Amino acid sequence: MRAVVIGSGIAGIAVAIRLAAKGHQVQVFEANDYPGGKLTVLEKDGFRWDAGPSLFTMPHYVDELFRLAGREPQEHFNYERLKIACEYFWEDGTHLTGHSDPQKFAHEVETQLGIDGTPVRQHFRKAAFKYEMTKGVFLERSLHRFSTYTSRDFFKGIANIWRLHLLPNMDRVNRKALEHPKLVQLFNRYATYNGSNPYAAPGVLNLIPHFEHNVGAAFPQGGMHAITMSLYHLAKDIGVEFNFGEPVDRIVTQGGRATGIEIGGKAVSADIVVSNMDVVPTYRHLMKDQKAPERVLRHERSSSALIFYWGIKRQFPQMDLHNIFFSDDYRTEFAHIFERGDVYHDPTVYIHISSKMEPADAPDGMENWFVMINVPGNQGQDWDGIIAQARSRIIEKLSRMLKVDVAALIVTEDRLEPRTIESRTSSYTGALYGASSNSRMSAFLRHANFSRKIKNLYFCGGSVHPGGGIPLCLLSARIVADMIKAA
Ligand code: FAD
Repeated sequence: MRAVVIGSGIAGIAVAIRLAAKGHQVQVFEANDYPGGKLTVLEKDGFRWDAGPSLFTMPHYVDELFRLAGREPQEHFNYERLKIACEYFWEDGTHLTGHSDPQKFAHEVETQLGIDGTPVRQHFRKAAFKYEMTKGVFLERSLHRFSTYTSRDFFKGIANIWRLHLLPNMDRVNRKALEHPKLVQLFNRYATYNGSNPYAAPGVLNLIPHFEHNVGAAFPQGGMHAITMSLYHLAKDIGVEFNFGEPVDRIVTQGGRATGIEIGGKAVSADIVVSNMDVVPTYRHLMKDQKAPERVLRHERSSSALIFYWGIKRQFPQMDLHNIFFSDDYRTEFAHIFERGDVYHDPTVYIHISSKMEPADAPDGMENWFVMINVPGNQGQDWDGIIAQARSRIIEKLSRMLKVDVAALIVTEDRLEPRTIESRTSSYTGALYGASSNSRMSAFLRHANFSRKIKNLYFCGGSVHPGGGIPLCLLSARIVADMIKAA
């Protein structure tokens, strides 16, 4: 069958590989003149930054795509497991090294915070349990097929439902389990891994640290952009045709079936259409003649981000690949993001420095800082004002905490913000992860991976089930491909 994929985000490339490996003829149409969508790169004045995602978990989902295409992954794509997941800093001078190994991490908590590490060890065990109990239903299968609710995994989850924390929010579960305010803040931060609010998102999301600690995060050789490029080359090698600078205008349907797409007045016919584009603009712009699932499209969006790419003319040995500088009041910071739609005066700052692993990403003796804060989605706020104010507050905060004049160290700069995330990838409101997980029903309110009304129309990527982030996007591609028969 002829398959058309709209968009070459990571899920679009993955679904193209899967369909080509099944023997279908696959064409990808991408609005930009490069592949990868959010998973792209920026190069300037001798520095290289991964422009979007910086944290890579569950790398075996990438390996799986090479094996499916009959290739040995290590011959095309390599990564290193991180010994340190993140360095955490607080204004009072507390510094915790987030060792990937849960035992070492618990020991660090004991020595740095002077408390018993047992609750931390238990928390990691519970994270593993929550993941094992939910993955077969919420992550690896369509939530919109009857067969999911008759599977063994579903009954396993039901039998353990009270241990999954579906009702209390993440913060409540963390406060009860961990007590120490710094530990609670550290574990609440995992809500941001899918752009959610720990004071609203269900406690089951406390499974997220499992990816970073029990399984372990990784870093790809060549940086995050190597994920995009290695999969793009794999797709081309197995016959996928890519068309760049080709924004799709319409999904064509006939008699309740998708029959192709239209681009600039040109028609391309197909037996299967997969949209990797954000589901909101897919309905609003490409399917204007169809009734849109309004309840799903109105579902609250995840947070967006403000990122400064700074070339820094010295090195900081106290920092690692991933670093967090916490705010003084996390609850208020999230109220600003999700309730007030603005930015707290003391935001939590994340710094990713890929030159720690890839020295060639910065000139000798320098570092490439990717400095990010979580911000609300674009609802027409005065972004120029917000960005200027946030920039000076971030610089003041980092200068205070690192005891150095950070502004004087910046030799080159670029930035990304909700408006540009939206315009460069068509992500509605500039959300990083599609819909948020801020309600107990969120998982059920994400759009399905297929259309209930139009045959042969499928959806993959961060705005549909099972959600955003590289691993889940790759799973969305797997769910879609599993629904389509081999040629
Ligand atoms: P997208 O990347 O959203 O791409 C969609 C593609 O569709 C784009 O290339 C777009 O141009 C194309 N398109 C849109 N409309 C059309 C059209 N009409 N015709 C043709 N093409 C079209 N995830 C992690 O796992 N770890 C992280 O650390 C992390 N950090 C992030 C930091 C930032 C700053 C951002 C922006 C995201 C981050 N994410 C992270 C989230 C992750 O990047 C996304 O979930 C994932 O990359 C989304 O992939 P996708 O397949 O949904 O497609």
